[in-house]
Amino acid sequence: MAVVDALIAQGHTPSLILADRGYTYLKQQMWAMPLHQRGIAQVIDLHKQQRGIRPGPIPGTVYADGGLFTDALPQRLRALLAPTLQMTSEERALLATRYDERTPYAFTTLGKPDRERGTQRYRGPAVTGRVRCPNHLTSMRLSAATRPTTSCTPDKPCACGLTVTLGPDDSFGTRQGPLWGTTKWKASYGRRSAVESANACLKIHHGQLQRHSTRVMGTTRTAILLAFIIAATNTSLLISRYHYDIGDPPADEQQPVASEPNARTALHRKRAFGRRTRATAAVPETAETGSARDGPPPTDDFANII
Ligand SMILES: [Zn+2]
Repeated sequence: MAVVDALIAQGHTPSLILADRGYTYLKQQMWAMPLHQRGIAQVIDLHKQQRGIRPGPIPGTVYADGGLFTDALPQRLRALLAPTLQMTSEERALLATRYDERTPYAFTTLGKPDRERGTQRYRGPAVTGRVRCPNHLTSMRLSAATRPTTSCTPDKPCACGLTVTLGPDDSFGTRQGPLWGTTKWKASYGRRSAVESANACLKIHHGQLQRHSTRVMGTTRTAILLAFIIAATNTSLLISRYHYDIGDPPADEQQPVASEPNARTALHRKRAFGRRTRATAAVPETAETGSARDGPPPTDDFANII
């Protein structure tokens, strides 16, 4: 939270954070609530303990993997496999489409949250026209070809058309915009790996941050020395990617030169550098070699990934 507050103080308030499970599994008072109060959303992976089906806040609702659904969520969509590291990317994409099938049954946010009280209103899927429920005649007039029809019994109360307010005690820490496991969630949370480019800039391409890079004891002293390494890395990045020499900065009236966009997608981009070996480790880093070996230019997104 200290890092987040430092970003806010600098005028770079993140709108969304893709945090590691080590943070998001903390008690909500330690992480989810302070973020919410600062107006920051999060997309999170769920711990095994946070997954599964649980009773919802009112009759006729259930929590499935942190998201709020109507009880009409079909049984076949309840106990889905969790994605694992052993799965191929095709298998994971296929699994995500199974989670996508849950989406129509989910409650969706209504209006803005009350950040002080930690509350948010949610509307049932029949009022938003995402499912057809026999208890809501307007929804039954929608096309059955484009939306699922729930198995609700007519005249038996269901929650498909209700509005519910969730408070800080209602699965607060596991609620998120995209539903866990869906294609949308996968695309959003998958951006976490981008932080590895920033880490690689510090460790390999522009700096040599490693064990014994600093030789002082204590967090504060280490932080001060780390600041020099990070500053040097940033300076090297500025020269190689933006031709901006902080020792000889361009005049104020000169328009900044944007970095050339890379036409190839990150997936197909040729890896122009190799792993550091004992032999190459001794070669001193220069701005020129950095230019040939660095990855995509840093964006503010990196700052948002912790
Ligand atoms: Zn219903």
